[in-house]
Amino acid sequence: MTGYPEGDTICAEATPRGRGGISVVRISGPDAWGIVSLLFDRKLPGPGMLKFGRIIVSDPDPIPLDDVVVAYFANPHSYTGEDVVEISAHGSPVIVAELLEALYKGGARPAEPGEFTLRAYLNGRIDLTQAEAVSDLISASSKEAAQAAMKQMDGGIGKACEEIAALVERLLIFAELELDFVEEDVELTSREEKLSIVDRAIGNAERMVAGYQASRRLREGVKVVLTGAPNVGKSSIYNKLIGEERAIVHSTPGTTRDVLSAKTVIGGMEFEFFDTAGLRGNPDEIEDEGIARALIAAKNADIIVEIESIDFPGFSSASLEIPRLKITNKCDLGCETTDGMAVSAKTGSGFYDLKKELLNIVKEDNKLTDGTINRERHYRALARGLSGLRRGRQGLIDNLPDEMIAEEWRDALAALDELTGKKKLANLLVSIFGQFCIGK
Ligand code: GDP
Repeated sequence: MTGYPEGDTICAEATPRGRGGISVVRISGPDAWGIVSLLFDRKLPGPGMLKFGRIIVSDPDPIPLDDVVVAYFANPHSYTGEDVVEISAHGSPVIVAELLEALYKGGARPAEPGEFTLRAYLNGRIDLTQAEAVSDLISASSKEAAQAAMKQMDGGIGKACEEIAALVERLLIFAELELDFVEEDVELTSREEKLSIVDRAIGNAERMVAGYQASRRLREGVKVVLTGAPNVGKSSIYNKLIGEERAIVHSTPGTTRDVLSAKTVIGGMEFEFFDTAGLRGNPDEIEDEGIARALIAAKNADIIVEIESIDFPGFSSASLEIPRLKITNKCDLGCETTDGMAVSAKTGSGFYDLKKELLNIVKEDNKLTDGTINRERHYRALARGLSGLRRGRQGLIDNLPDEMIAEEWRDALAALDELTGKKKLANLLVSIFGQFCIGK
């Protein structure tokens, strides 16, 4: 399925590598219990229990390696759905390396990135969106993002998909039943009833999509592109916003030739700021490339900040349908007549209001529900499902043959199955689980 062997016993350090209070080594698979039994100087604890004891390894003569706490989770009541043993050892890379070596000798193999979670998914403990939520929770860099990931781990997206699928399955059954009676030309269910079912399914799917952008922003960070003519102070503002001296500030116009980006948390939300090459009428060739990148960054932005300064006029990127915020920089030199927000990268004045305004812009359209999707993968699958539903609905209105309509319902179901991972696609699994850390 994914290229990894399945059904064998895997092990890895579950805590980050390095020195610390404890390090946890996790073992999962049919031989987990047996392999650890041979190393532990006491009888292993019962399911769901912990036991303190000593790990003895052969070197080749037996030597005590560490005093540890062993936890045992019997299948199917474990993270992976298999037998899982977790050994909490002292937090030393040397001990962990020796312990893993002993486990390999006992017959376990090193786990691949995300393989524990992959097994949880393959064993039906969680669906694909819940597995993604595990990865999101680990990499969350704001409290809000972590909370959203926690919610998704409860399976809200899967449940919302199941509700839609149940409706579509009913429509499919109606269509297939009527196909059986095609000779008699009977209508077993009224068109109105079918339309009301498909409308419910479409409504549910639309609700899942409604907060997609807000939810994606929560997961990926809000992308804010700083634009404006050269020398208005974009790099200075960028540095001030991220609180570091990353971008080069220079008084010669056109010093930021590429797009720089950095993330920072404002009011519990993660923001990613992009400092772009200046946009102006007559750039040199290298800067031209930078400007092209600025435009690409602006098109992928959640917010565009248009900067002007009292000594350099602004430009407008009005053709892009993205929320924009107009600010005037260098207000330490006087900004009495500005129509935008007044800031000074030099003194820091106006930055509190600027950050507040950025937060306001993204907090406005929070329509998040438990089933709100948050990845492009989800969006594409759901969009396919929705268009199947809409085509099927139109088919009902146009009185198309049941066979053709049934095909649309099947397409919609396939898209939902892909979203939740009921349909297991090897490439997809590799790309999702490959991004996990080892030991998760
Ligand atoms: P960019 O080309 O738009 O990225 O502009 P820079 O950030 O490189 O700044 C251009 C020049 O304006 C530099 O000499 C900065 O020191 C100066 N500058 C930037 N922000 C301010 C400000 O708030 N007040 C004043 N007085 N000068 C500023």
